[in-house]
Amino acid sequence: MSQQSNKLLPIIIRGARCKCPNCGEGEIFKSYLEQVDICENCGEALGHISADDGSAWLTIMLVGHIILPILFILFMWVDWPLWGTIFAIMAPTLLLTLLLLPRSKGVFIGVIWHTKIQKIS
Ligand SMILES: [Zn+2]
Repeated sequence: MSQQSNKLLPIIIRGARCKCPNCGEGEIFKSYLEQVDICENCGEALGHISADDGSAWLTIMLVGHIILPILFILFMWVDWPLWGTIFAIMAPTLLLTLLLLPRSKGVFIGVIWHTKIQKIS
């Protein structure tokens, strides 16, 4: 394992905590998903990093892998009407999505910051 890959895990964890990838202390969002231009704690420029659809993709992947088995179990073993199953699964799906979306974006910002990829265009 290279030295570079050893440093990636703490950056991913910082991103998942919505903290600056450089110092791990400053917040990376000034609102729910709006990222800060500069870290308040260390002054690292973060505003130019664009996670684009990566955070939405990661959120869908994570929520899907958590919710779909539960939905499958409900369909197989619980004799609820379809509307009952849909309502039962909507609340945790929405909650998980809202909880994971900023964390996913934080992870992408951290990884992009780590790899020094610049937006092309
Ligand atoms: Zn910082």
